[in-house]
Amino acid sequence: MNAKNQTAIAIVGIGEIARNQHVPSIERNPSFALAAAVSRNNVIDSVENFTSIEKLVEERPDVSAVALCTPPQVRFQAAWHALSARKHVLLEKPPGATVSEIETLIRLAEKNGVVLFATWHSRFAPAVEPARTWLADCVIKGVKIDWREDVRKWHPGQEWIWQAGGMGVFDPGINALSIATHIIPHDFHVSEAHLEFPENCETPIAATIGFADRLGTDISAHFDWRQRGDEVWNIEVETDKGHLLLSGGGSVLHIDGELTHEAPEAEYDGIYARFAELLTSHQSDVDLAPSKHVADVFTVARRSIVAPFHT
Ligand code: NAP
Repeated sequence: MNAKNQTAIAIVGIGEIARNQHVPSIERNPSFALAAAVSRNNVIDSVENFTSIEKLVEERPDVSAVALCTPPQVRFQAAWHALSARKHVLLEKPPGATVSEIETLIRLAEKNGVVLFATWHSRFAPAVEPARTWLADCVIKGVKIDWREDVRKWHPGQEWIWQAGGMGVFDPGINALSIATHIIPHDFHVSEAHLEFPENCETPIAATIGFADRLGTDISAHFDWRQRGDEVWNIEVETDKGHLLLSGGGSVLHIDGELTHEAPEAEYDGIYARFAELLTSHQSDVDLAPSKHVADVFTVARRSIVAPFHT
């Protein structure tokens, strides 16, 4: 904490999401002061910059929290180092490349008495909580997740998404799963899946998933990065009370065709408000459900090789 009772926070990995969302949301939140940045190639002008987390930890003991905005493949080492130095840690989604590495981090955070927050930004979209509340006492009859976007538009020049551990189409698809696991009021699990891998990539460009539950509910998801034109980020739920459509990635809610919620996006302001609460109550928040579904898909999926991907 500094003299203004703010948590001094550093950002690690200065790419798209760090610049576009983390920096402005930290600057808008009076509970935090942006104190430093760690990047191999980039800088944030207003703060001290380091090229490794080791140097940050050594030279800035005043920094008590770090936000890790690197790709998932390299997140564990940085998180381990920060938690070992008793820094509170905020993880971008997905929280890691594997489920086990995140469990290791949960145990280390507990042991060292610091907060670990695995963020799922889509859960902070404005219509997600109203959808969860509406569904809480419903009998769910069917769920259809349709998540399609143009990878060239949303991930230009990002090579890590096509490399093993980068998750391919699950980079956006896990956002849908983070919402679905939050709003559907009962457990479901992956029963079958089909993954399409471009012949020159290590990760899939499309996925079709079937889920099962103890009630025999029809739950399915389709993720596709080959979308042309407008993105589709929809979750439809058929229930005994009526039909719910959550669209726009969680920002718009229709019940039986009638618009009930629509609000401007403020996901990262919500994330930092939640991080401030967790720091005050000294609690961690790590939900592994979306990551487990993705891991399960990779376990059971049939695979097809499709046309190579070129930017
Ligand atoms: P990005 O633009 O590629 O930035 C990632 C940054 O991480 C790079 O600028 C790089 O900075 C650093 N980095 C460290 N080691 C790296 C490595 N081995 N390979 C590549 N970069 C490395 O990616 P991003 O879109 O910001 O995504 C980062 C994380 O945020 C991902 O987990 C993603 O799922 C999540 N996210 C992204 C968005 C989005 O819209 N972009 C939205 C929500 C969540 P230096 O080279 O300077 O170290």
